[in-house]
Amino acid sequence: MFVYGFAQGNKDMRDLLGGKGANLAEMTNLGLPVPPGFTITTEACRTYLETGREPAGLHEEVGRHLANVEAVRGRRLGDPADPLLVSVRSGAKFSMPGMMDTVLNIGLTDRSVRGLAEQAGDERFAWDSYRRLLQMYGRTVLGIDGPHFDDALDALKRDRGAAHDVDLDAGALRELVLTYKGIVRAESGRDFPQDPREQLDAAIRAVFDSWNAPRAITYRRQERISADLGTAVNVVAMVFGNLGSDSGTGVAFTRDPASGARGVYGDYLANAQGEDVVAGIRNTVPLTELAQLDKVSYDELLDIMATLEGHYRDLCDIEFTIERGRLWMLQTRVGKRTAAAAFRIATQLVDEGLITEDEALARVDGHQLAQLMFPRFDDRAARRAVAHGMNASPGAAVGRAVFDTATAVEWNATGEQVILVRRETNPDDLDGMIAARGILTSRGGKTSHAAVVARGMGKTCVCGVETLDIDVARGRFTAPGGVEVAEGDVISIDGTTGDVFLGEVPVVDSPVVRYFEGELDPGAAQADELVRSVHRLMAVADSRRRLGVRANADLPEDAARARAMGAAGIGLCRTEHMFLGDRRHYVEALILAENDAERTAALAELLPLQRADFEGLLAAMDGLPVTVRLLDPPLHEFLPDLTDLSVRVALAKERGEQAPRDEKLLRAVRRLHEQNPMMGLRGVRLGLVVPGLYALQVRAVAEAAAARERAGGDPRVEVMIPLVSTVQELELSREEAERTIAGVRDRTGFTRPIPVGTMVELPRAALTAGAIARTADFFSFGTNDLTQTTWGFSRDDVEAAFFAAYLERGVFGVSPFESLDVAGVGRLVELAVREGRAARPDLKLGVCGEHGGDPDSVHFFHDAGLDYVSCSAFRVPVARLEAGRAAV
Ligand code: ADP
Ligand code: MG
Ligand code: MG
Repeated sequence: MFVYGFAQGNKDMRDLLGGKGANLAEMTNLGLPVPPGFTITTEACRTYLETGREPAGLHEEVGRHLANVEAVRGRRLGDPADPLLVSVRSGAKFSMPGMMDTVLNIGLTDRSVRGLAEQAGDERFAWDSYRRLLQMYGRTVLGIDGPHFDDALDALKRDRGAAHDVDLDAGALRELVLTYKGIVRAESGRDFPQDPREQLDAAIRAVFDSWNAPRAITYRRQERISADLGTAVNVVAMVFGNLGSDSGTGVAFTRDPASGARGVYGDYLANAQGEDVVAGIRNTVPLTELAQLDKVSYDELLDIMATLEGHYRDLCDIEFTIERGRLWMLQTRVGKRTAAAAFRIATQLVDEGLITEDEALARVDGHQLAQLMFPRFDDRAARRAVAHGMNASPGAAVGRAVFDTATAVEWNATGEQVILVRRETNPDDLDGMIAARGILTSRGGKTSHAAVVARGMGKTCVCGVETLDIDVARGRFTAPGGVEVAEGDVISIDGTTGDVFLGEVPVVDSPVVRYFEGELDPGAAQADELVRSVHRLMAVADSRRRLGVRANADLPEDAARARAMGAAGIGLCRTEHMFLGDRRHYVEALILAENDAERTAALAELLPLQRADFEGLLAAMDGLPVTVRLLDPPLHEFLPDLTDLSVRVALAKERGEQAPRDEKLLRAVRRLHEQNPMMGLRGVRLGLVVPGLYALQVRAVAEAAAARERAGGDPRVEVMIPLVSTVQELELSREEAERTIAGVRDRTGFTRPIPVGTMVELPRAALTAGAIARTADFFSFGTNDLTQTTWGFSRDDVEAAFFAAYLERGVFGVSPFESLDVAGVGRLVELAVREGRAARPDLKLGVCGEHGGDPDSVHFFHDAGLDYVSCSAFRVPVARLEAGRAAV
């Protein structure tokens, strides 16, 4: 069976009937006024695409169902005296840009157009419907360029002095039909078909074929939608919104999809058909005005919307048409919504008894929460968007427009905030992107270079603003309405909505962040419904989740902030900052030391400083675990730059001066120089070859803990060894750590355990996790390095170099640095978890690195059986929410 009448399907049959068809069937069976029609299954489409021919029997099945529709409507398709007309609508399981548009009014011919006019008593309506058919059929079935038709329409309007389509009378539209038929003949080489069934069959085939349109293929690859689903085709009896002022068409939402406010919301356009509403060719009126225009239909529509919401138990959006005072439903689906609306609606539905708390949790996600946490433009500020593009990377950025990297870098260095404006970006623009507050482009989508790199950097980006005319050479761009922006003019861009504004729009902190930081009490009057919703759903998530959530934090302030955000400890304290600033001097001394005495002296200077650092951190995280990672980056990062130093030494020589320390330093820098530092002398390798370095850090950690305990605190510190690839490395560094801790215990009487564990961030560590676990109290997966080393990608280079091309060509759907590559890196994690736990059942397992705060990755870590994730403070609420969602 390849065809289902609307009464034969239901909403759960989306695989077979597509989203649109399944929901049309559901509405039909709910007794709602849906015009009669039928759905040709995705299976028919698949067969057609495989064999290049319609499946046997399809023609007859369509004929039978068409006959049913004809019987119900009392008209025959394209009957010259009184024609039935139908629409042919694509409808895959997932809605998909690039698929074929709908063709309305199939069945109109040179003869039946007269029958339609007579039956409707309206000449104008009939010719209007016919010209629409010619246009849609010409474009989507015959593949004729749209402008051919648009230009002809515009010319006619100019000729008749008509402002809008509705101002054209029957005679004018009849003339337009002649012109359009001429276009069809000229462009396709044959006449517009006068056989209604031939029109119908061609339109059905065109929908099938559009599954493999290039844009649809690219979209599927990027969205990871399987290429062999196929699309369904819906054939629906036409109802007419273009039959005069008592007719019209509209779209509506059962709640406001922008804010989530209760109450219906939508747009209505009288005397219009189909896409006129979204196409914006005339101004629509708010749905509520329909109450004045047609109270009966309006009330019925409200009833239906209530029915649909109760039935789908969610916000629904709908398309409807009113034909001479009679309401018809043409589409419904669970509607898209903004992040704020998602949270508000989910809690409203719990309160209304429609869904459970667990279901509410499933209706929101971490991406939405993250969006709500960015600073945003003040709603109360006057502002008007001059252009609109893709919301490629969220946030609100204000700055002076600059058009090239050099200017961006130069102005930023003088403390100026800049927005980099380019037609599109490429790897040469990287420095400019780093220097800019935000990035604005006129070309490219969410996988363009600008979008990918901006997201990687956490920078606001609006891309693909096609209405901007950017002239990089002259340093200016224009926007519609005569707006002109020159280099240095201030602009504001909203990466959450895609809006571009002139001038400075004031930025406000997100109320959600103020709530998380404890500055906004959700019970207080000034807390709005959004904050209360977030508060409630976070409580649900916390009560359901099994994964712990810690933060990556190095400084006491950051630790305190993370704690306020709900972090149950620190999963990664990077210690490199403890060697920077004034302390570089001691690091240099350590590296230059020629004997034990010099080395010991340098270390002795660092000890009290580091101890104080750790005390502060342990105080901020009192009572919670703090994992301290011993020094990881290559030493050259703490030394002067090779070129700078060479120049300094050369200049000194020229002047005949002595610079013995610089010369020594230069030799050291040369000695430490590496072709590939990220794979060189770093991590545990440093600990093993720089005598005393790791011991210094461990001693500072243990002494800080002892001091905190003496002061009445509850320190719970853990030592973590980075970049281990073999158990021998861990054994050696662990022995030294234990010796050092024992020394501190002897001197201070401190007795609490200090677990020693390791990062698993190299494939070899994961592959030998069983052996390593015998020496480790815990593992923390460093998924950034593990991703780099598993793929052989350098994170610092490849994102800018070729990720955009990879995403564009569908090599992967999302950067593996953004979302954990489950199929590859994930297998290493699973293997290490399994073999680590087998060797040591009480092995504690966590993950640190950006993936710890990535919504999709959190689900994987939950499933892999980790104990906790650790991420930046800002991402802690996101991880809590997702950990809760993963558990329900
Ligand atoms: P899309 O998926 O782009 O919304 P649709 O198939 O929903 O495409 O149709 C496009 C427009 O045509 C919508 O406004 C829809 O309501 C209208 N439409 C589709 N079928 C009919 C019909 N049988 N009678 C009247 N209007 C229709
Ligand atoms: Mg639609
Ligand atoms: Mg690492």
